[in-house]
Amino acid sequence: MGDEASLETGGAPERLGPDRPPGREGLYRDIGAVEHPKDAACGFEVTARFERFNQANDIYARGQWDPRIRSEKVINWFKGMFRPGIGARDTSGYTIRDFALRNAGWMGTNLTIQRSLAEGRVDGFLDHIQPYSEPSPVKVTIESTADSTEEIKRVARLFGADMVGITGHDERWHYTNSFSTRTLSEKPYAIPDDLPNVIVIATSMHYDAIQSYPSATAGVAVGHGYSRDFELVQTIATYILNLGYRAVASVNDSTQAIPYAIQAGLGEYGRNGLLMTPEFGPRVRIGRIHTDMPLDHDAPLRFGVKEFCDTTCRRCAESCPPQAISYDAPTEEITSQSMTVGIRKWQVDPEKCFKFWTNQGTECGVCMRVCPYNKDTSKAVTRRYYRAWRRLAASRLQPLRSLALWLDVRLGFGKRVKPEKYWERFRSSGR
Ligand code: SF4
Ligand code: SF4
Repeated sequence: MGDEASLETGGAPERLGPDRPPGREGLYRDIGAVEHPKDAACGFEVTARFERFNQANDIYARGQWDPRIRSEKVINWFKGMFRPGIGARDTSGYTIRDFALRNAGWMGTNLTIQRSLAEGRVDGFLDHIQPYSEPSPVKVTIESTADSTEEIKRVARLFGADMVGITGHDERWHYTNSFSTRTLSEKPYAIPDDLPNVIVIATSMHYDAIQSYPSATAGVAVGHGYSRDFELVQTIATYILNLGYRAVASVNDSTQAIPYAIQAGLGEYGRNGLLMTPEFGPRVRIGRIHTDMPLDHDAPLRFGVKEFCDTTCRRCAESCPPQAISYDAPTEEITSQSMTVGIRKWQVDPEKCFKFWTNQGTECGVCMRVCPYNKDTSKAVTRRYYRAWRRLAASRLQPLRSLALWLDVRLGFGKRVKPEKYWERFRSSGR
């Protein structure tokens, strides 16, 4: 870790730029095992070229230090999350009211982020969330990991998690360095590496709002999804700390969320680059709690997504406004420094995607909206249809998989709902 060493010498951090790119750790195979026993069951193809990811290469970090990404639109995109009025215009889905709803959704997230800004931390987005207390000095004895696993899953559900899974610490998904917004440079990675278990939770996002992507209106689903996630991971961590065990809550920071979620049995990887869960498809947010509480691990879950994306469906790629999603077979070739080196998978170009987001002043989720696995399972009729549809999509017979896709399009699932229609339904919903 060449750059890590210089970061730890305490000298003035060097600001990143095109002439001073983020450091590379080198090939992971020189540090640890590239393959993990769970990889085949997860559908992972980690190659000999694999390198761990440096957070400074993340597209949001580059939006701050990299002049090839940073622009006035990008700056306003960041500011618009906190300051009323930025980006609002007289266009359906982008009015003051649409942005107001979106920004209100983010409020729970902002409370955590604001807490540590003065210390140069962005808890939950760039830095793991600092625990509110030390673990209780009195440690509860755990006699059965089956019981403690059952209990922690119940606690997670009690506080609102839609899905919970548990897996082991996997160094490959941890970043090499972190990024500092204060100095626009790298800083040492700080999440502890001696917490052997990772509890992964998924929370579903509002189906109705997502139907209006692209729009700022739909952003309430993402903002509120994050806010619920922020609350949940800290709540579960607090429970564990009170039992006398260590617990570090994490949302978008520090580790790659999707591989951990797949290892924990929450779903599969889709062509759209998202976690695909059986119940909510890609319409989830992912949180993690790293802990030394003794727990059992879950097995990965396969329900036919890889085969369906591979052989039958291209809907997300066809619908992506800037054409950021691959139509092709999984590959390890990458086109941007914001992509991970050495994993053969469906690649999504974060530069094209982020440019589209900042051009419209809010994030996008069209690939989530159109995905046939995204259904409103809170309604009994749709739930029954979706469960039957999922069996069809998972068929070994190509004509049945093609029928599943045809049926979904024919029935109008995934079509955009105009933002004004969303508001109309919202006002008449009686909420
Ligand atoms: S979020 Fe939008 S721009 Fe990004 S990959 Fe999905 S559809 Fe494309
Ligand atoms: S839209 Fe189709 S191809 Fe894309 S992730 Fe969903 S199922 Fe896979």
